[in-house]
Formats: sequence, structure tokens, C-alpha cells
Amino acid sequence: ASTLYVIATPIGNIGDISLRALHILGLADLIACEDTRTSKQLLSGYGLSSELVSAHKHNEREAAGYLIERLKRGERIALVSDAGTPAVSDPGARIVDAVREAGLNVVPVPGSSAAITALSASGLLDEHFLFYGFLPTKNAQRKDALKTLTDTRATLIFYEAPHRIEETLNALADIFEPARRIVIARELTKLFEEIHRCTMAEVMDWFKSDPNHKKGEFVLLVEGAQPVSDDINTESHRVLSILMQELP
Ligand code: SAM
Repeated sequence: ASTLYVIATPIGNIGDISLRALHILGLADLIACEDTRTSKQLLSGYGLSSELVSAHKHNEREAAGYLIERLKRGERIALVSDAGTPAVSDPGARIVDAVREAGLNVVPVPGSSAAITALSASGLLDEHFLFYGFLPTKNAQRKDALKTLTDTRATLIFYEAPHRIEETLNALADIFEPARRIVIARELTKLFEEIHRCTMAEVMDWFKSDPNHKKGEFVLLVEGAQPVSDDINTESHRVLSILMQELP
């Protein structure tokens, strides 16, 4: 007992929840959720009806105090967000921080996250990825943020909402070189899931080719900056050493 369980819930498909998550949600004394209505609906889909309390980004600190009090009474508390993994572009981190500071136990119960789901099906080869989350909403700030990322040798992962997708794709096409690949992952795990891969040069034509392309929730993945090819390096060293021999 006296444990905060950080539980991932589905990002669309109700089947994407672990057996362990369902087990813990079933025996929790209290479930702290971002929006009680959303979580109530989800839980009733699994035949669960536990006590719910709201813990969203505007009351996270106060909620943390209340949850700590209940944890100290020896309770088991589950923390969920509206979708996916709590604390990933979602509330949760402040609560986890406060619970840890209070010396109490925190246990993660893993499951869906849109970033990892999109990355796994992107086929973008890289050892590294950088999860950026949401870009700034103002155009100038968004472009400045993107400019700091153009040389990053890691797949870049962004979250975007439907009302900003067009501006963000425009900014990406503007800032990154035309041959750089982009993956647009839309409505993951849902009925109209679409994962489209193309280059920056092609992305706006694709986007405009169908009005459905602006609908839903989006993960955008941008191929990392490519290292200067070893072949070119080897060749330039060879030429350089020949030239050096000719120098006085
Ligand atoms: N905590 C969540 C997670 O672990 O992925 C992220 C929550 S964040 C508030 C919501 C954003 O996640 C959306 O705007 C979208 O960028 C992304 N997202 C969530 N569900 C998605 C889905 N089914 N398909 C594509 N993107 C999704």
C-alpha cells in the first residue's frame, strides 16, 4: 500500500491497456485523473467504477497535497491522464515530484504513448530520438525553435493539434532541407489511422491533396540530420595527403 501508480491508458484503441494496468485500476482506493468525465467513461468501458478525483494542470499542486495525505493513510492511488502516458506532454510530473519529495513510493505502469507508437512504425533509422512535444504556437518562436534543431542527429518527434497542423507543416518545410524525410502519423490506433512518409519538398502537396489530412491528432517525425558520409571523408583525406606530398 502507500503507493502512487502512474498508469498509461490508451491513445485511441480501448484494447491498448495492459492487464497489470487493469488489475491496479481495479484495486486502487482512488484514481487521480486529468478529466474525471473522460476517465469515468474509459473505466466504465472496462467495468470499473472507482473513486475519482481531478488532477489537471491548473490544480496539480493542490491535488498533490491531497494525494500525499491519502497516501500517508496507506492508500493505493492510480494517476492517469486523458490519453497515453501521464507526464508526457500531460499533467503528472508535479504530482510525481511532490510524492517523491514526501518520500513515498511511485510505481510506473507502462503502456501507450503517441510518440513511441509513431516512432515504432516510422521506419526512420536512427539510434537516437529527441522528443520535443508541442512547438511554440507563435510563428516566429516556432521557427526559432526549429532552427535550433536542424543539425540534430536524432529523429525529432513533435506533437500537434489539428488547428495548428498546417502552420507547423509549413514551418517544417521552410526550415528543413527539401530532401529531409518527414512522417505524419495521424489518428494512431483509431479507425482513420494514417502514417504517411514523404520528403519536406513533398509534404505540403500531400497535405493539400485531401481535406481529411488536417483532421485528428498528429505526431510529426523528422529524420535526423545525416552525418557527413565516411566515404567523402576518406576520399578527402586521400586527396589531401597526395596534395601534402606535393607541397614544399
Ligand atoms: N500523454 C500523451 C502521450 O503519452 O502520448 C500525450 C498527450 S498530449 C496532451 C496530446 C497530443 O498527443 C496530441 O495533440 C497529439 O499530438 C498526440 N496524440 C495523442 N493521441 C494520438 C493519436 N491517437 N494519434 C496521433 N497523435 C496522438
